[in-house]
Amino acid sequence: MTDPTALPLLRTPGLVDAHIHPDKTSWGQRWQSRRSAATLIELIENDRATQAEYETSVEERAFALFSHALENGTMGMRAHVDVSSELGTRNVEGVRAAAERLSGDLTVQIVAFPQFGLLRNPGTLDVMASALDAGADLVGGIDPGGIEGDLHGHLDAIFGLADRAGRDLDIHLHDGGEGGLEQIREVARRTIGSGRQGRVTIGHAFALCDPALPSLGETLDLVADAGIWVATCALGPDPVPDLDLFERHGVRVAAGSDGVRDAWSPFGTGSMVDRAHLLAYRTGAMTDGELERAFRIASISGGEMMGLSSVAEWDARGGTHLEFAAENLAQLVVDRPAPLRVVRDGRVLR
Ligand SMILES: [Zn+2]
Repeated sequence: MTDPTALPLLRTPGLVDAHIHPDKTSWGQRWQSRRSAATLIELIENDRATQAEYETSVEERAFALFSHALENGTMGMRAHVDVSSELGTRNVEGVRAAAERLSGDLTVQIVAFPQFGLLRNPGTLDVMASALDAGADLVGGIDPGGIEGDLHGHLDAIFGLADRAGRDLDIHLHDGGEGGLEQIREVARRTIGSGRQGRVTIGHAFALCDPALPSLGETLDLVADAGIWVATCALGPDPVPDLDLFERHGVRVAAGSDGVRDAWSPFGTGSMVDRAHLLAYRTGAMTDGELERAFRIASISGGEMMGLSSVAEWDARGGTHLEFAAENLAQLVVDRPAPLRVVRDGRVLR
């Protein structure tokens, strides 16, 4: 590791966490031991139980995580927040209240996320609509096939709500295999059909990470035509995109934390420098260019996805930037220092 006292000052764009779950986090609380789970449904049940057991509010935990992320250079976040007939809109209200306390410093877009199913949890669509009036910005979705068992029914519901409310979409899709690709193609067809190019994101999209699938190439082309963003989290056991392949097909990628120290994972720091490192590591980055690409995905690309111009249209001479003690971006991604200064609109936040 390079001696930090001998390093020059490096200015970089701000960081963006393109996929995070701040309502579920235990950040700022005592250590939480986790139950094992073998399936997605078991993970979701553990999550439901854990949320019910928290003794501190969503606002308190989300604010602790937001504050830590901001100190580590995150300026924008796409926050997926649970809504259900059981929870109502209270998680959205808690996360919005936490975000308001950092308003102007950290830009938080909230997705009304049907974690516990939409068709299989009656009443959820109405709560999602209410959530859009209670601080949520986007309409979410979850595995229309694997969890909901009704591809068209689920997509009719969420695209319909997005149309009525005039909002963008950000859909969780874990399903793999050709079945996962068919769901992604249907999302792309509907995106193009409704003129929503560039305004739909798919989170995880594990099917797009499987090079053995025969229809992968044509699906990537359709995803590119639809301008769909893919949010990857480079999680330990899960597939990651082949970034060269995505680039060749013109598919845009942003990066996020996903769950930070919640029922889903004991890991995560909320630092997008750490996430850029993990993305570079999981995708086998070797050259400086590949390491720089991981940083760009965790910063400028996320800014483009969120429409956050101070990050997306970054200018080293501008008033929004991070300052690191680092030789260059490649060394920064490998050594993962925290920023020395976080500057937004000319204000020093750290
Ligand atoms: Zn997620």
